[in-house]
Amino acid sequence: MRAIQVSEHGGPEVLRYVEVPDPQVGDGQLLVRTEAAGINFIDTYIRTGRYPTPVPYIPGSEGSGVVTAVGADVTDFQVGDRVAWAAGPGSYAEQVIVPAAVAIPVPDGVNAEIAASALLQGMTAHYLIESIYKPQPGEAVLVHAGAGGVGLILTQLLSSRGVRVITTVSTDDKEKLSRDAGASEVLRYDGDIAARVRELTGGVGVAAAYDGVGASTFEASLASTRIRGMVALFGGASGPVPPFDLQRLNPLGSLFVTRPTLAHYTRDRAELLWRANDIMNAIADGTLHLRIGGSYPLADAAQAHRDLEGRKTTGSIVLVP
Ligand code: NDP
Repeated sequence: MRAIQVSEHGGPEVLRYVEVPDPQVGDGQLLVRTEAAGINFIDTYIRTGRYPTPVPYIPGSEGSGVVTAVGADVTDFQVGDRVAWAAGPGSYAEQVIVPAAVAIPVPDGVNAEIAASALLQGMTAHYLIESIYKPQPGEAVLVHAGAGGVGLILTQLLSSRGVRVITTVSTDDKEKLSRDAGASEVLRYDGDIAARVRELTGGVGVAAAYDGVGASTFEASLASTRIRGMVALFGGASGPVPPFDLQRLNPLGSLFVTRPTLAHYTRDRAELLWRANDIMNAIADGTLHLRIGGSYPLADAAQAHRDLEGRKTTGSIVLVP
């Protein structure tokens, strides 16, 4: 089959389109013909070696497709089922081995590209607002990168609950997308974000800051958050946050800071299905609109990574074999 392979860590150019042996299904696994693979920022951290991974490897943890074979002990899925996954390594490929334990049925009416990019970003938004800090209607929160994949989903889910969402974005086009998703106020990074947030919240600050941008925004997140509020640092699109002195949380307002990862919020099949089905069902019934900001041929994975890292993308982006 054709796949993208990384043989040494580095820039987007290390994503090579190659011929590799077809994968063989084993016990507890599904063999899936990939219809689309979701691209996530974490794929860039792994590619550069920031998150250590042995080479060679096929990138991509997320996708959707049709089951073509099932392992001997698989009972929940059969050949022909449409499935999606967010924890199956090797998704930038024409065929993927998906452990049945992480496969999610795709509801009718959810197309392959949407299904391929819904789960990783969607379940991240889900755990951030259900399990880390669940804002109440009327409360204000800060969401960085408001026009990105996670950002647009967070904004829609929160604003539909009556939460006041303040976002940050870098361009006019992204501002429009963020407002259309339900943001009440959209800020740029170059101003004093915390001062603007304080102004907008009568000096109080936001109940929670959801920060996937990291290095360039973390200080603003801390300074924007109200007494006893929550700062959820869930990524570092601008780079990792330097070491942090916990004593600083005291004068800042007895703040909570967490650095979560999706795997710890999908610890068993029941928790995975709760989050995945909530997201898939919200898409299927039209309450959550997932924006596919770019669809690239599989062979163009390097260009897709360039665009993601170059802040040229909006919403979710996918590769199509
Ligand atoms: P996005 O679509 O949000 O892309 C990243 C965005 O970050 C860019 O579009 C850009 O938006 C903004 N950004 C700000 N500064 C920079 C910079 N210096 N370089 C590049 N981008 C920058 O990506 P995802 O939705 O895939 O992921 C968002 C974040 O969530 C990432 O940090 C990712 O690692 C994290 N994540 C964490 C998970 C977890 O469980 N911890 C799971 C899934 C994702 P703008 O131009 O508007 O600033």
